[in-house]
Amino acid sequence: MSQLIRTYKKYDVNEVKAHLMIYGDLAAQCANCSELNVKLDMHQCPHCKTEYKYIAFRNVLTNMPKLHKIVEQRPSLQIIDHDDYKRHIGASKAQELFGDK
Ligand SMILES: [Zn+2]
Repeated sequence: MSQLIRTYKKYDVNEVKAHLMIYGDLAAQCANCSELNVKLDMHQCPHCKTEYKYIAFRNVLTNMPKLHKIVEQRPSLQIIDHDDYKRHIGASKAQELFGDK
């Protein structure tokens, strides 16, 4: 019986941001351009046309049925942890701010 088990992998945070859909409680958002009119089944952003390779759920527990659906229907989409993403994107913004690259 297969179950979801989280894994850890190294990603370039800026590359992830450029191709990430962030799913909130009711709607999705494009991480690249902040477009809000994004649907879960879209393969690219209706605004900036970026191709979605990653998805992060703000609330994994309430969206577990959707997460299972994505795994089944869109195996090419990498599901990444929203807290991890937020933490690293915050750190990379701070680095830019202080010129410490
Ligand atoms: Zn976009």
